[in-house]
Amino acid sequence: MSSFLENTKKFISEAAGIAHIEDDMLARLEKPDQVLEFEIPVKKADATEEKFQGWRVQHNSALGPYKGGIRFHPDSNLDEVQALASLMTWKTSLMDLPFGGGKGAVRVDPKKLSRVELEALSRGYVRALWQEVGPEKDIPAPDVGTTPEILDWMTDEYSRLAGKWSPAAFTGKSVEKGGSKGREIATGFGGFVVLREYLLQANMDRPKIAIQGFGNVGLHIAEILYEKGYIVVALSDSKGGVYGPDGIDIHEAVKVKREQGRIAPEFFLGKNFQKISNEALLELPVNILIPAALENQITEANADKINASVILELANGPATPDAEKKLEERGIDILPDILANGGGVVCSYFEWVQSLEEEYWEESAVLEKIDAKMVAAFRGVIEMKKQHGVNWRMASYVRALLRVSEAMKK
Ligand code: NAD
Repeated sequence: MSSFLENTKKFISEAAGIAHIEDDMLARLEKPDQVLEFEIPVKKADATEEKFQGWRVQHNSALGPYKGGIRFHPDSNLDEVQALASLMTWKTSLMDLPFGGGKGAVRVDPKKLSRVELEALSRGYVRALWQEVGPEKDIPAPDVGTTPEILDWMTDEYSRLAGKWSPAAFTGKSVEKGGSKGREIATGFGGFVVLREYLLQANMDRPKIAIQGFGNVGLHIAEILYEKGYIVVALSDSKGGVYGPDGIDIHEAVKVKREQGRIAPEFFLGKNFQKISNEALLELPVNILIPAALENQITEANADKINASVILELANGPATPDAEKKLEERGIDILPDILANGGGVVCSYFEWVQSLEEEYWEESAVLEKIDAKMVAAFRGVIEMKKQHGVNWRMASYVRALLRVSEAMKK
């Protein structure tokens, strides 16, 4: 199977062909501006020192400062960070934000560190690269494995080194430390807006929905969909999932997840629910499938077994190009990551503005602004679809690439 980075490059070069972007410009669009690699030493509780591998990839800043999350994950590697940094460039462009794209990571299982060690690692990450980031340069945010508390430590460390309180250097902070209201649900909410707009033009009555991943993104879209009256029939996390064809009470599922740290299928058993594996969740007879966990989940190997008619990509890179070809032949629409999960970075932009202006907006105001941005991006993609007769992903990439390449010519 090809790597996440190769898959991302395939999407970019196909879209560049459709947009008539020349080869030398395509080469510039693919290449990251800067790759920072460093080791972070952390003193462990037993007085030994462990070094963790860290990265920050600054992909493109033609539209503004680099913007993108930091992932703490045991499988993180440079290829993945480069792919994710590139996706950020296209996402911020598509969302019409004054940002470029970047991404960071540390190869670590954060669950295996004590709180003190995690704080030391987070502060160490900032010490390794603080001169390369900042409110006008590169503004990191959370991603898989990083939390508002971690971003608070990072903001504090950066401010200490910079010699002044600099809340606009990071987004995804806790609300108490200058974070934006609505940030926690923003990606899920943005995904909901994209789905809502899609369903306005699709012929689908009371669709059944399956969600893979029940973390920040998956949990919040599940809650929003449930509260809006949609039927979520399946959920999973890294430890397995649950399927109930008549629908799951998401408030109950969230309560169990918060109490036990997992979905706990046995809680639902005996109520017309069954325990399912992650693989099985992807293949369920549903209308809408929402991958909200990690990349490379829908591949050539399982694409023929997907039964949904729409895939809303809330994870980054969940479907490979080979899988997409197969799905397209069967008329399955994919609402791509750079469109569907853009709500997080849109909210990060609003957090950055609030931090710079020392303003605090109410959650309803933030969500209203995210809604408007997502609808504008969705309509822009429809325009590209009509103009070029291409699928949702290509239409999204073409729009994003054109905006960046125009800025690079100036
Ligand atoms: P998270 O760490 O909060 O949650 C990830 C969830 O996926 C967890 O429930 C975990 O148990 C589950 N998971 C892990 N491996 C799995 C597997 N093999 N099968 C099923 N579930 C599995 O992370 P998150 O912030 O929710 O991010 C999820 C995805 O969304 C990532 O691809 C991330 O890059 C993307 N994303 C996140 C944001 C954001 O604002 N957090 C924004 C844009 C995109």
